[in-house]
Amino acid sequence: GLKHIQAIAPYVGGRPISEVAREYGLDESKIVKLASNENPLGMPKSAQEAMLKAASDLGRYPDSNGFELKKVLSERLGVPADWITLGNGSNDILELAARAVAQSGDEIIFSRHAFAVYPLATQAVGAKAIEVAPTDMFGHDLPAILAAVKASGDKAKLVFVANPNNPTGSYLKPDDIEAFLSAVPSHVVVVLDEAYNEYLAPEQRYDAVAWVKRFPNMILSRSFSKAYGLAGLRIGYGVAQPALTDLLNRIRQPFNVNSLAQAAAIAAFQDDAFLQQGYEVNHAGYLQLTTVFDDLGLPYLPSAGNFVLVKVGGDDDAGARMNLALLKRGIIVRPVGNYGLPQWLRISIGLAQENAAFINALRDILSTQK
Ligand code: PMP
Repeated sequence: GLKHIQAIAPYVGGRPISEVAREYGLDESKIVKLASNENPLGMPKSAQEAMLKAASDLGRYPDSNGFELKKVLSERLGVPADWITLGNGSNDILELAARAVAQSGDEIIFSRHAFAVYPLATQAVGAKAIEVAPTDMFGHDLPAILAAVKASGDKAKLVFVANPNNPTGSYLKPDDIEAFLSAVPSHVVVVLDEAYNEYLAPEQRYDAVAWVKRFPNMILSRSFSKAYGLAGLRIGYGVAQPALTDLLNRIRQPFNVNSLAQAAAIAAFQDDAFLQQGYEVNHAGYLQLTTVFDDLGLPYLPSAGNFVLVKVGGDDDAGARMNLALLKRGIIVRPVGNYGLPQWLRISIGLAQENAAFINALRDILSTQK
């Protein structure tokens, strides 16, 4: 294998329920998984129905250009269809961006504690990852990222910015993002990763598409995996001006998004009631979890996403230890040692009863530790 590929640390996902049940001798139906920032409502009914219809035609290839889905996206987002790239999950968009603009000898810049796929996409193309120190609250430090871009000079090809970021849940103010976009040299592409955009509170929302219209070096990336409940189908999209979109489309696999995913996404994207319900469940679950963390004196980071990062101890085994104790009680959450946060755990926000099961297990573990 190539040296730069051998150097890649593989992505570690949330552990599947069946695997945890087997390993710890638990009843699958009692396991609660709050580990992958999935939608606790599952997939929308509307999408399920659309998929069943599309399932009759699986002998054919999917529409390689995603005409129908792009039409719906284009109308709602207010950009022409040739500004849109469909991806096999938004991870696909992140990877396409790296492949389109960077290669060996180039540099790709992002914050420490940013999403795990940024270093993967960077290393896969042989580029060098420049990790920028975060703010005090583990958020992206945009002025420091800008300084790193300038210091990198001609080598800088791409910047990944997540808002909100996973796993920290940190949120960037629109004025700060806009100032950043205005200051980044035009030869550097900026991916604004908005996988959790739909969870932003009304007062946090902003119009990123307006920036795409102003900045030809920007790619906006969105996902159907979170608020739209379609994680298992793998579908996301990128929005960028036509020249950049054209590059992404040249290198994507011709049929990167399958027919079921396209059909489901068309329905989910227009299912405003599902989105609203998910938002409300998430908001209530956030309060439910953070109230208990306050009560227990556990530090946590304010989150703008559908998950919360909580500090479960002061030593570098604390996250792994608590994770194991939770697994034994049938609760799957996400350790984030691979993100450089070994004292923390990331808890995806679930339904009220799922959050309660996690809270009971947590209280139980903490009381036996005393
Ligand atoms: N960006 C961020 C910040 C994420 O947390 C995730 C999912 N973990 C993704 C992108 C990718 O999601 P997907 O490929 O399922 O759209």
